[in-house]
Formats: sequence, structure tokens, C-alpha cells
Amino acid sequence: MLRVASVAPESIGAHLGLVQGTELVSVNARTLEDFLDWEFLTADDAFMLRARLPSGEELECDIERPEGMPMGVTLEPPRIRRCANHCDFCFVDGNPTGLRTNLYIRDDDYRLSFRYGNFATLTNLKPKDEARIVEYRLSPLYVSVHATDPIVRRWLLRNPEAPEIVPQLARFAGQGIRFHTQVVLIPGINDGPQLEGTLSDLYGLGDAVLSVSVVPVALTEFSKHHLVAEPTRDQCQAALGTVERWATRAMAERRQPWVYGADDLYLQAGAPLPAAAWYGDFQQRENGVGAVRYLQTRIGAAAGHYGDWTGKRIAVMTGTAMGRLMPQVLTDLAAETGAHIEILALENDLFGKSVTTAGLLPGTAFQRALVDRHDLDLALLPAEAVNDDLLFTDDLDAHELAKQVPMEIRFSYDFADVLADGRMDGSSDGRSEPAVVPAYPPIRRSAGEGR
Ligand code: SF4
Repeated sequence: MLRVASVAPESIGAHLGLVQGTELVSVNARTLEDFLDWEFLTADDAFMLRARLPSGEELECDIERPEGMPMGVTLEPPRIRRCANHCDFCFVDGNPTGLRTNLYIRDDDYRLSFRYGNFATLTNLKPKDEARIVEYRLSPLYVSVHATDPIVRRWLLRNPEAPEIVPQLARFAGQGIRFHTQVVLIPGINDGPQLEGTLSDLYGLGDAVLSVSVVPVALTEFSKHHLVAEPTRDQCQAALGTVERWATRAMAERRQPWVYGADDLYLQAGAPLPAAAWYGDFQQRENGVGAVRYLQTRIGAAAGHYGDWTGKRIAVMTGTAMGRLMPQVLTDLAAETGAHIEILALENDLFGKSVTTAGLLPGTAFQRALVDRHDLDLALLPAEAVNDDLLFTDDLDAHELAKQVPMEIRFSYDFADVLADGRMDGSSDGRSEPAVVPAYPPIRRSAGEGR
């Protein structure tokens, strides 16, 4: 059932009398199931809408709208498609108790794959879903492949019903659907010859597979360590060797690397990251692929727009993974801004030390690190660490955190987004009222992709 969450004033929806709680029933006699139906079926300039108001009154609206004018209707969030798999490396199994509820959801939803770039396995698709993907041209999709050998993939996903991925992708490819794919690297299972075979099969799908990322599995102290292990340095180096061989071939034949090691793979292999140009338009940046180079690119692009931060003391807060890479990024930032920049790389005491990503740091970790730091003017926190409601993984509200620490705090994706305006909120001493930045777009993150 599709319901209205809100209606913009003076919009077509308001003019029709749609209100919060209205049930949107059908467009042109086609029943509406979710936001995809709504967006695609109402894209025309003229259509017939049936709706049911909270009072029970039925509406039938013959709508003609000027080209490009939006309906002004915000929908209630969709019901997330649950995952049919049971991977040993699933991040949900690695969660401690007491986190935000949605961190326990094993989502595997092709709709969110298209909309937000969440990785999906496509193992829970029904024929009707496949038809929608083709009809609505849901492309590109972000697909967790892990292995193309059906036996190995079923073992990894712990799902004996998982369809064979190569024929599945090929069917979609024949209908014009494209994919960004990932392989979460599980040592001893899908590395070595399996990785070679997977890359070979994906390469064989031609331009339907836009990119492949190879990402070392990340576990928490709550994960099933008796069943799955993180790769060693040697195993990361070997995987990187395979990636680089295929990337060399792709560069020669397709003029782009096509397959990319995640930043973590380079870090764990002890290898230097490729230059920014290697990553093209950073298509898998939010999967940790080229994230460091992307930051450097963003910082450089804002050169000349930073204003004067000379003498300000700024803390850049991150997880231990980026903490090791951050010096190469922040040298540039300090030179551009004139600020004294300090990296605070925090350990994750909620999920365990092995969880090194900044996006999963609990609010209490930031609170402890900042509460006595009266010497700081500003703390930049990773925007990925909070959800749309500004809640950290441990449910601490960012506004509460801002009240508890003595400096201004800001959420930032790339530093330039905060520092390039050259100003700080608050009084002339630069910090009177702690502030948070509330209006970032939704964070793209899959709850259960093992990292
Ligand atoms: S890792 Fe992803 S595909 Fe595997 S069980 Fe968890 S949510 Fe499902």
C-alpha cells in the first residue's frame, strides 16, 4: 500500500486535495505498489489517479499537468525487501545489541539498488520484479556478485536457491540493463582461481558490467569468526595482483580499468593507492573505492575558495582505516586553509576494534574524544556516521553531542563542503553555539553488506 507522507503547499497534489495519510490506489488503472510505480506511472503529462483519503472518501482525478511540474507528493518510506541469504560474513550478525533498529535489517532490495546504489544480490527477485526492472529501465543496478561459480556463490550466500548470476545478468544485459558489481573477498573461498574466474565471467558480459570492485571482507568482534576470516596481507597482495592484471587488460581493450581494488585492499596489502585519474568519475566511491583520491580531488577543486582559517584549530575525526590514509589528504587541506588540522582516528568500542570505518563510529566515541578538548575551534565529523535524523549508530542524537562538547561540530563529506565557505557559525570567538549541519541527503549504505 502506498501512502502520502506530506504534500507541498501550492502543488498539484495539494490542489487535488491529497493530504497526509492518503492512500494512492492506482494510476491509469494500474495498482500502485511502491515509489517506483508512482514515479514512473505519473511521469506522463496526463493520467488518471485513484486515491482514498484518510476519511475514506474516494478520489478519481483526471490530471493534466504542465510539463515538468512536480506532483509535490512525498511518500511514506517503502517497506524494505528482506534478504533471502544467510552469509557468514553478514554485517547484521556482527552487530552488537542496542543499535538503531534499521541496522538489524538485512536489506536486499533491487529498488534501493537503483535509487541509492545499495548493493543487492538479486537472489530474491520474482518474475514480476524482473519484468519491472526491464519495464522501468532500472539501470545501472549495484549487484553483489562475490563469485560467478554457482556452487561457490550459493555457499557464500548460504542460499541453495540462489539463481546463477551470470545467466541472470546476461538476461538483463540483453534488455539494456547495466551493472556496477562487487566481490567481497573471503579468503580461501572466492579469492585465487575463483576471483580469476569471476572477473573473467564478468568481463565476458561486455559493456553491461560497468565496474567491479574487490573489497576485503570486514568483520566485527561479534562476527562468525569460526566460519570466516579477514584476508591476510599476502592474500590482499595476491588479490590486488589479479585485479591489476585484469585492469591492465581492460585499459588496453576498453580504455578504463573496469576492475578496482577498494582502498582497504591497498591498505591491507601495504600497496600505494593509484592516482585519482585511475578512478575516472569515482563510480564506486561510496563502496570505499577511490575514497581517498576523491577527497583529495574535492579539496583541490575548492582551492581559492577556503577563506581564511589561519590559526584555527580543527579536528578531523574518522575511523582507524581512514586515519592511516588521512595524512596524505590533510596535508593539502592545511596548506589550502592555513588551519592547524589534527586527525582524531577513533577506535570503535561498540562494534570492536576491527571495525575501522568512520560511518559506524558510535556517538559516544566522538563525545569522549571531544569533551575535554577546549583547545579546538571546530570538529569535522564524518557525515556517514549519522542517519537522516542525525542519529549515530548507538542512537545518540547529534544535537545532544553538540551540547556536550566545547567546540563547534560540523558533519562533512569531503571537508571542502564545510570549509570552503570560509566562515564558522557562532560568535567572534568562532564557537559560541555548537552547531550541526542538518540538511545532507540520505546516506547510501546497505545494512548488511559485510562491511
Ligand atoms: S551480507 Fe547482505 S546478502 Fe548476505 S545475508 Fe547479509 S544482507 Fe543478506
